[in-house]
Amino acid sequence: MSSPKEDTIAFDYGVWEPVIGLEVHAQLLTESKLFCGCSASFGAEANAHTCPVCMGMPGVLPVLNRHALEYAMRTALATGCTIPPRARWARKNYFYPDLPKGYQISMYEEPLAVGGGVDIETPSGRKRITLTRIHMEEDAGKSIHDAHDDHSLVDLNRAGVPLMEIVSEPEIGSPLEASAYLRALRAVLQFLAVCDGNMEEGSMRCDANVSVRRRGTEKLGTRTEIKNMNSFRNVEHAIDYEIRRQIDVIEAGGTIVQETRLWDADRGLTASMRSKEHAHDYRYFPEPDLPPLVVDRAWVEELRRGLPELPRRRCERFVAEYQLPQYDAEVLTARRDLADYFEAAVALHQNAKAISNWVMGDILRLVRERRLDDALVITEWPVRAESLAAMIALIDDETISGKIAKTVFEEMVATGDEPAAIVRRKGLEQVTDTNAIAAAIDDVLASHPDKVAEFRAGKDKLLGFFVGQIMKATGGKANPQSVNEILRGRLTG
Ligand code: ADP
Ligand code: MG
Ligand code: ZN
Repeated sequence: MSSPKEDTIAFDYGVWEPVIGLEVHAQLLTESKLFCGCSASFGAEANAHTCPVCMGMPGVLPVLNRHALEYAMRTALATGCTIPPRARWARKNYFYPDLPKGYQISMYEEPLAVGGGVDIETPSGRKRITLTRIHMEEDAGKSIHDAHDDHSLVDLNRAGVPLMEIVSEPEIGSPLEASAYLRALRAVLQFLAVCDGNMEEGSMRCDANVSVRRRGTEKLGTRTEIKNMNSFRNVEHAIDYEIRRQIDVIEAGGTIVQETRLWDADRGLTASMRSKEHAHDYRYFPEPDLPPLVVDRAWVEELRRGLPELPRRRCERFVAEYQLPQYDAEVLTARRDLADYFEAAVALHQNAKAISNWVMGDILRLVRERRLDDALVITEWPVRAESLAAMIALIDDETISGKIAKTVFEEMVATGDEPAAIVRRKGLEQVTDTNAIAAAIDDVLASHPDKVAEFRAGKDKLLGFFVGQIMKATGGKANPQSVNEILRGRLTG
């Protein structure tokens, strides 16, 4: 089997069925780190956000950041997980220069949350991907190898930043299901405002465990774990590549080695990084410096009550309440700020479908052009929701035509002015005066007698030509419906 052409993933693996389980690391949007008061923000000078705790000095003690716990619990509740009565911090021991303590504080045998799931849409309907667990852990620092030839540097700003690891059951059945799962999960995290979900910048990272088995068989194949995919597309391509590679190996009579592989986006392939580490390699043991986490049940219930409306529910409500097509509702609820923007406009002018079209078309195009969608919350929409609603109201009450609206919209974007003011200033009101329209039509017909004769001889296509000429003559302002009616009358009369 050959690898697919760029951007075309066929997803046909013949008798082979892919099995995928994802481990997602999400950086929690807290101000400070997980076990100390240092800032958790990015972009500072190297090692500016450090203290004896996150530098791993001997004799210091960690203190849990309550906000980080709250964010992880909200995620657990939003995904329908069970929060057991007790969780326990564990030391995961390994040696690496960016881990000064020599261990990472994580959770192992007793995670924060178990069960739950994330719903995705697949070609054969809705599917729920079960979550194995959600646990909390601290991030490591960053080694910098390319600054000097003879030595490496370590930046510990990221050491101790709170992460949440969300592990799925091996229930994902294709590369597309994997990206759908990641998108759905990211939407939940963003609606909860617990993680900004930026894969490019690494605030949401994903490792993919991939195996294949013959269709119709139960037993799971040996898996490999793929790292280093920093976009949804990369995830799809890397998993697809890995599935095909495994099938090739097995069909050639070989066996899959359990190992960790790195995705190389430039070369479009995965390459072996190391043999798979096993849990016992890490010498996990309960963290002696932190007491077991016994979560107050009343607090759990309080957090549950405080959950916002989540993407899935909001999507369903958009379909039911605004009679939007499923597709529109999904696009609009992919981001919380986008959904809020849409609803703010609909509240002012009840033409949901028209508003949806403008938001999904012109507004989102501008948002992308300006790269505003990189932010967790877009605060500078190119046009205020109120102004968009007012403009669509002008179309609906026939003050302007849909075509002129494009001009008005451009002017709104350029100047920030209100649509009514722009229409007045530029004299863009639609011409609905039928006498004026009829006069324009007569002018056009009079100057094209040959075309009129052709039309009357049966060349129907010319109707569009006449309409175009009339719109041109009226600066696009003639009411299209009147133009059509009067024109037909003149031509057939
Ligand atoms: P580790 O933490 O060592 O990677 P886990 O048992 O926690 O191991 O599994 C991690 C992920 O691997 C989970 O998402 C799980 O669903 C997935 N997984 C386990 N076995 C397989 C398999 N045979 N094929 C595909 N995914 C698998
Ligand atoms: Mg793993
Ligand atoms: Zn610190």
